[in-house]
Amino acid sequence: MQADHHTDFLIVGAGFSGLVVAERLASHGWNCVVVDRRPHLGGNAWDRSDAAGVRFHPYGPHYFRTNSHRVREYLSRFTDWHETRYTVNSHTHGRDWSFPVNLITFEQYLGRPSTTDEFEAWLAQRRIPITHPANSEEAILAKVGREFYELFYEGYTLKQWRRHPRDLDASVCARIPIRTTRDDRYLDESFQALPANGYTTLFENLLAASPRVTLHLGVDFDEAKVRWKHRHLVFTGAIDEYFGRRFGPLPYRSLRFEHESHDAETLRQRVAISGKPGFWQPVLQVNHPDPSVAWTRTVELKHATGQQLDSTVVTREFPKDWTPDDEPFYPVPAPDAREAYLRYARLAAEESNTSFIGRLATYRYYNMDQVTAMALNEADKLIDHYGSH
Ligand SMILES: Cc1cc2nc3c(=O)[nH]c(=O)nc-3n(C[C@H](O)[C@H](O)[C@H](O)COP(=O)(O)OP(=O)(O)OC[C@H]3O[C@@H](n4cnc5c(N)ncnc54)[C@H](O)[C@@H]3O)c2cc1C
Repeated sequence: MQADHHTDFLIVGAGFSGLVVAERLASHGWNCVVVDRRPHLGGNAWDRSDAAGVRFHPYGPHYFRTNSHRVREYLSRFTDWHETRYTVNSHTHGRDWSFPVNLITFEQYLGRPSTTDEFEAWLAQRRIPITHPANSEEAILAKVGREFYELFYEGYTLKQWRRHPRDLDASVCARIPIRTTRDDRYLDESFQALPANGYTTLFENLLAASPRVTLHLGVDFDEAKVRWKHRHLVFTGAIDEYFGRRFGPLPYRSLRFEHESHDAETLRQRVAISGKPGFWQPVLQVNHPDPSVAWTRTVELKHATGQQLDSTVVTREFPKDWTPDDEPFYPVPAPDAREAYLRYARLAAEESNTSFIGRLATYRYYNMDQVTAMALNEADKLIDHYGSH
């Protein structure tokens, strides 16, 4: 195929990384073509509504949070926010527990009221003294000791990654907070909110503000690179795929999702379980660490969106080994996988006029605010290098 078009920047991937870098470059006068092989924009953060108008996340729940003023200020140009609390239970040993571990969890464990002082003393006796945890098992044993590690972390992690916590980086489990107060929020960041009308609307607003960005959905990189002559490529897809997997595929973990819509009548019958009229389960997310259950979590996003509707959507998430036919949802956070990635990273460093950004191209489990920051920084560098148009 002959190149039939010219553009300044060809950007592969219409997720957070690709669209943010495109918007920034376009605001400096550069023409950008963004392609994505999927039929929709937004990458894994894409959202939509069911027939009753209930918004959900088809690729699994995406809880936006950040401590970055720059990221929040930048994204706020394209969306209002619905500030929210992300709340999680862990269902194991036949009951729900408050999660992440906090004073309420400890009281549930004791079966009576307690205090921060008592919980801290209890933890001090159980924590295993490991100053520099080398893996996720050590990270949690050092924070809460063996009982809570086995109750909440070991089974969930094994199911999610099909690797033992001792074979995963310490950061995987260590990023989950542990508190000795009644603060039961799932996350620690200062700003926790969802785009008021969803991620898809945020991205549509970003494109509407960027007439120099053209989006082509259902177009693969292989087709795009011959179709559009370009001065610079920004690649946000999987780095091993870019290099034809010449050193073998990198390990990924994949997922399968089941989304169920529930009407008002079903929800009336569920009140005894959810404890809240109009909801299917008591909190946003329920974790299932037990090996007897095939899924890892059920998510009812309506708890976090604030939508006032009498029906709901519940998403069940099933972990899955990755094959080339699956979405590579998670890079594997483990030393052997990082070693394998570094061989591709060395090739990437030698590519001219090409940037590799985002979760798949840098093979790191980054959150949405982190990839947004990465895209803003990369755009700054490119504008420094190429100037404004
Ligand atoms: C199940 C799950 C839950 C998550 N939950 C959270 C959360 O709660 N909070 C949070 O902050 N983050 C969360 N994340 C992480 C979040 O999804 C990422 O930070 C973010 O989506 C990364 O954006 P990206 O643009 O780098 O990649 P992506 O969103 O993966 O976008 C890359 C795009 O490139 C396209 N592409 C790839 N290769 C090609 C090719 N060869 N040709 C054409 N197109 C191509 C893909 O189709 C994709 O649309 C979660 C991720 C998953 C998988």
